[in-house]
Amino acid sequence: MGPVLYIVIPCYNEEAVLPLTAPLFRQKLGELIGAGKISDDSRVLFVNDGSRDSTWEIIQNLAKQDVHFAGISQSRNRGHQNAVLAGLMECRNRCDITISIDCDGQDDINAMDRMVDAYAEGYDVVYGVRSSRETDSFFKRFTAQSYYKFLAAMGAEVVYNHADYRLVSSKVLEAFADYHEVNLYLRGLIPLVGFKSTKVEYSRAERMAGESHYPLKKMLGLAVDGITSLSVKPLHLITSIGIFVAFVSFICCIWALIRALTGATVPGWASMTCIVCFVSGVQLVSLGIIGIYIGKIYLETKGRPRYIISERTENMI
Ligand code: UDP
Ligand code: MG
Repeated sequence: MGPVLYIVIPCYNEEAVLPLTAPLFRQKLGELIGAGKISDDSRVLFVNDGSRDSTWEIIQNLAKQDVHFAGISQSRNRGHQNAVLAGLMECRNRCDITISIDCDGQDDINAMDRMVDAYAEGYDVVYGVRSSRETDSFFKRFTAQSYYKFLAAMGAEVVYNHADYRLVSSKVLEAFADYHEVNLYLRGLIPLVGFKSTKVEYSRAERMAGESHYPLKKMLGLAVDGITSLSVKPLHLITSIGIFVAFVSFICCIWALIRALTGATVPGWASMTCIVCFVSGVQLVSLGIIGIYIGKIYLETKGRPRYIISERTENMI
C-alpha cells in the first residue's frame, strides 16, 4: 500500500470553477490509487477561505457524495497563503504526503504523478515549476520574472517560476509547524525548512472559470511580503547608504572648509537647500524601510493564530 496523499486546495469564491475542477482532482486521485502509487485513504481536501458565495455548500455536497472528498472551512477570509497553511497543518497527522494546488485548473494535475514518483525516490519536497509562461499576459510574465530576480538579488531563497503547487511530506510539515510567523510566504519558507527536494516541470494553463484574486495591488502586496519576510538585505542597504552619505559629507566638509579658508564662500542658499533635501530624503527612505520591519515585528509579537477552523466535514473530525 502506497503513502496516504492529501491534495490541499484553497478555495475563495470559486463556485464557478469548483464544479469543473473537483471531478478532475478526484479522477487524478483515483488514477494514482488505481496505479498503486498512493493509498486508498488518500483525500482531496478543500479549504474554504471564508467564501461569500456557495463554495462551502459545494464542498459539503462533494464530501457527502464521495468519501475521497473532504473539506475544512476557515472562519473568515485570511488569504491564499493562510488557507494553504490551514490545509497543510490540518492534514499533517493524517497523511504521509501533501500536494497543494490552486482550484482553478491552471496547474497541470498530470504533474502529480511525477511528484509522487519523486517522493517514492526519496524526495521530501517536490516543487512544481512552470516550464513556460505563454498563457500569462506580457505584463504578468514580465513583473513575475523581474520579481524572482529581485528576490534572488535581495538574498531570499526562492525557486524560480514556482508558485504554490508542490508536494511536501508530513515529515517536512512537522518541522514547518515550528515556524510561527504571521507574515506567511510559503514558497520562501519551505526552502528554509530544508530536506531533500527536486523540481517537476509543467505548463500552466488559463483559469477554467471565474476570476483571478490576484490583481496588481495584491500581487505587489505579496511581493513586498516576500522580500520583507525573507530578507534583511534592505536593512543592510540602509547601512551601506549611510556609510556612502557620510563619506560624501566628509569630502564636502573638507571642500567647504577650504573654500571658507580661501575666502571664496558665497552666501549658500542653494547648497543649503540641496543638503537639507538630500539628507531628509535619505532619512525618509530609511525610515520607510525600517517602518516595514517594525510593522512585521509588531504583528509577530501579537502571536495571533494564523487560522481558525470554524467547521469540518464529517470525515475531517
Ligand atoms: N485563494 C484563497 N484565498 C484568497 C484568494 C485566493 O484561498 O483570499 C485561492 C483561490 O481560490 C485559488 C488560489 O488561491 O485556488 C489562487 O488564486 P487565483 O487563481 O485567483 O490566483 P492567480 O492564479 O491568478 O495568481
Ligand atoms: Mg489561478
